[in-house]
Amino acid sequence: MTVEIINPATGQVTYRHELMDAAAIEQRLQAAAEAFPRWAERSLQDRGAILKQIAGQLRARGDDLQQAMTSEMGKLKAEALAEVEKCATTCEFYADHAADYLKPQLIDTEAQRSYVRYEPIGCVFAVMPWNFPIWQVFRFLAPAFMAGNVALLKHASNVPQCADLILAVCRDGGLPDGVFDVLHIDNDQAADVLRDARVKAVTLTGSERAGRSIASNAGSQLKKSVMELGGSDAFVVLDDADLDKAVAAAVKSRFDNSGQTCIAAKRFIVVEAVADEFTRRFVEAAGERQYGDPNERATTLAPMARADLRDELHKQVQASVAKGARVLIGGEPIAGSHAGYPASVLDQVGPGMPAYDEELFGPVAAVIRVKDEAEALRVANDTRFGLGGSVWTRDPVRGESFAQRMECGAAFVNAIVKSDARLPFGGSKESGFGRELADHGIHEFMNIKTIYVA
Ligand code: NAP
Repeated sequence: MTVEIINPATGQVTYRHELMDAAAIEQRLQAAAEAFPRWAERSLQDRGAILKQIAGQLRARGDDLQQAMTSEMGKLKAEALAEVEKCATTCEFYADHAADYLKPQLIDTEAQRSYVRYEPIGCVFAVMPWNFPIWQVFRFLAPAFMAGNVALLKHASNVPQCADLILAVCRDGGLPDGVFDVLHIDNDQAADVLRDARVKAVTLTGSERAGRSIASNAGSQLKKSVMELGGSDAFVVLDDADLDKAVAAAVKSRFDNSGQTCIAAKRFIVVEAVADEFTRRFVEAAGERQYGDPNERATTLAPMARADLRDELHKQVQASVAKGARVLIGGEPIAGSHAGYPASVLDQVGPGMPAYDEELFGPVAAVIRVKDEAEALRVANDTRFGLGGSVWTRDPVRGESFAQRMECGAAFVNAIVKSDARLPFGGSKESGFGRELADHGIHEFMNIKTIYVA
């Protein structure tokens, strides 16, 4: 089957590629199985040296990676280059820290010696999304390589060139054959790959819908899975917030990457005392985002990745408005664009509206006005999602106490929720389970083995 890739900024088909057949998949599964024992035996030092070479290759191929991201999913040039650099530093981070994360943990018992040893498990299948097409992959790959695992990637169908470039960067960095490969396959073929006995576990970053399907397949095979799914992060503005900082952060968090970020602030929960002022300034700043060619420096709002995603977002806006939300700015697709949607702000958002209950995966902010801090917390937690959240207040003690009561995987005080190789990343509730990054991330796909010497 041929897949056509449409540049979301122009609406033109820029690339065509073929899905793989059963023989091509089989060859890669077998190569991964054969590569695993040799890779697992390599020293951490060896694996780290290769990971550092991969970091060098990422930087050397930065422009190619940027062009692929921009033409396939519309990312702004500056954002794409920053993404490549983040991948390189994360490779270096794991090369430097894996030995510490993986050293045996001595545990005092009545035995002569008892300890935990971390062992790799084999081939991990990675199913990844298009929104950070390089970062999401390296967030998983860097720790996986250091753990001694091998990996097969099924990338989102709209970013095949990004997937091929990731493979090229790994190979040119010196990764042995079979340790990593790309499968250009559809979702039915992906289900078969997960059922294959040579695949030991799966990691998904994507939607709830994909999560339910892949996690249940993994569960029926008794295979470990990590699920990094959607979110509808609260951005809580308390009465003593520094509004200059809060507004600047709100605009960045909601509209960077055209709003297509799992940990973007999506529900802006603002207490009455500052709601008018915050909202006025937020709308003003949103209006400064300039839609245009993602390769141009002056552009500060990228197109959405696909026209169908833009249309879906617009339906959510319309349904919210039909139930009483007010459009303060934006709210209509950008005329004449293929997949453009303006930086938009909805006010008076409440329960029963998609903007309150669902994830808005695009540049639309939902303002929810609340009476006080207690109601802000109740609304922040009134969601089936639990990825991240942030709270804005001049009192860090108050902020920390609020953050501790937020039901999510990462709560930030006076800062935008972001991923960082040093900190674990992942969700609670229907945002998924398992963790990536830091020591927690590298341990997810390892046999945590007890050794007991009586
Ligand atoms: P998606 O439609 O779920 O796709 C993600 C990946 O899953 C793609 O490779 C897709 O392949 C594949 N897929 C979808 N359904 C599948 C199925 N039934 N079986 C096997 N594979 C399947 O999500 P998306 O639109 O690319 O990404 C947006 C979503 O990802 C948002 O909800 C966002 O919040 C979430 N996300 C979460 C995180 C996190 O760290 N928690 C990070 C980024 C994004 P095809 O493209 O071939 O369909």
